[in-house]
Amino acid sequence: MGKQSQSKKQRQADQRAQQSLSRIQLPFPEDLADESGGGTLVDMYLRAAAAFIEPTGDKPTEGSLREGMRRLLQQLDEYLELLPTSLRLAEGVRRHLACKKGCNWCCTIRVSCTAPTILLLADYLRRTLDEPGMAALLGRLQAHEAQTVTLTPLEVVLKARMCPLNVEGLCIGYPARPMTCRTYHSYSVQACIEDATEYGKQPMVPMDSVRMMMRTPVTRALDACLDAYGLDSRELELVPALKIALTEPDAGARYAAGDDVFGPANRPDVREAQEKDMADRGLA
Ligand code: SF4
Ligand code: SF4
Repeated sequence: MGKQSQSKKQRQADQRAQQSLSRIQLPFPEDLADESGGGTLVDMYLRAAAAFIEPTGDKPTEGSLREGMRRLLQQLDEYLELLPTSLRLAEGVRRHLACKKGCNWCCTIRVSCTAPTILLLADYLRRTLDEPGMAALLGRLQAHEAQTVTLTPLEVVLKARMCPLNVEGLCIGYPARPMTCRTYHSYSVQACIEDATEYGKQPMVPMDSVRMMMRTPVTRALDACLDAYGLDSRELELVPALKIALTEPDAGARYAAGDDVFGPANRPDVREAQEKDMADRGLA
């Protein structure tokens, strides 16, 4: 494609983004603007918001929320692809990203997300799983939930438990997986193994702070859009929320209409335990 048609395409995309942003009242993220590289973060925030709003318009429906979420995640993936896959540590040693297909020690961490991701994921699973596959998934979700009720909030955060979407080492919802799964990464698989197998030790998994930071403006944009639409923007636990979306009739349509359909998947006690644990370990 020639340079002229590329810049024309970019201008058209920018115009569409401006039109989308004019449809709802979004707060300006002052705190992001104050960070180093604040201009880029604010730009990411606005682009992510525009991507979400464009199919959703003035009145969200289940389908438009799913499409907005798909576009927003696609944008996050594009940002992540631009980042280097090696990192120079303080000691001058260069480390390479350790993640590869089939490596799945990290599929044991706690995963949370907001409702639009759950709608996207549930739709993807409905379209791709056959009847026995769906029955098996519902059984694994049920077993995971039954185990959760026996755990303290801190154990829910720190105890490694395999995600019910992981089958033979691979994620069966990969294209629609939550942002946590897209941005989690490590420069040492050994640290991931210890994190998953040695409860209570919780080593530091070496990560790139820039890669982790990518999620912030995108999450903030999503939350701001949901708030502007008057929809639930709470962080939900993946497993109970997905079970609701797959088993409750019209869960998506009810969510888009403003019902508190995902209330049972909201665990402020677990979020509090995670925040305290991170603060205790100097990570907050
Ligand atoms: S985060 Fe750790 S466990 Fe997950 S893919 Fe990367 S190296 Fe493997
Ligand atoms: S949703 Fe997929 S990628 Fe995320 S933890 Fe579960 S199996 Fe792993």
